[in-house]
Amino acid sequence: MTVEVVLAFGANLGDRGATIRAAQAELATHEAILSFEPSPLRETIAMTLAGPDPDAPRYINGVARLTTTLTPHALLDLAQSVEASHGRVRDVRWGDRTLDIDVITFGDQFITDDRLEVPHPRAHERDFVLSPWVALDDSAVIPGRGSVAALLLGLGDTTMPLEPEEE
Ligand code: ADP
Ligand code: MG
Repeated sequence: MTVEVVLAFGANLGDRGATIRAAQAELATHEAILSFEPSPLRETIAMTLAGPDPDAPRYINGVARLTTTLTPHALLDLAQSVEASHGRVRDVRWGDRTLDIDVITFGDQFITDDRLEVPHPRAHERDFVLSPWVALDDSAVIPGRGSVAALLLGLGDTTMPLEPEEE
């Protein structure tokens, strides 16, 4: 049995776009991931606990839509192992990261346990998730939250297109 999943990717240290594209290539060739469609990437101001921080290194963000036979927790394990293999640099500052992969939706399932909350509890209020997602699929829906395009319209889109050499 396969299920359609949306993952979100973010990076604000290192060669951000290349890291995200390499992580996506690794996932796309995994034997339990049957189809994989990445969104365009967007550049965004870092969001910290204290709010947007224009002085922090900017993020590159994107999403991908995939189909998989993995369970939600097996997919989280895979995402975390890809984060670990691409995501470690020597002198990481708190909050900044070379790679973050979040599970945004997993079919129409609702999951809440100590490792996983799906749909992702903040995806509906993050333009850096919604904006690349709409670019990939303008009819996407977050279970329990509604249309991704409508959510983004209500929020406003502060994300920026990437310079072509960063793609
Ligand atoms: P964040 O993405 O919130 O900045 P981390 O990437 O460090 O933080 O993840 C912290 C923990 O969040 C992970 O160990 C994971 O178990 C948990 N988690 C809960 N729900 C999700 C989700 N939907 N996607 C990814 N991780 C999740
Ligand atoms: Mg994460």
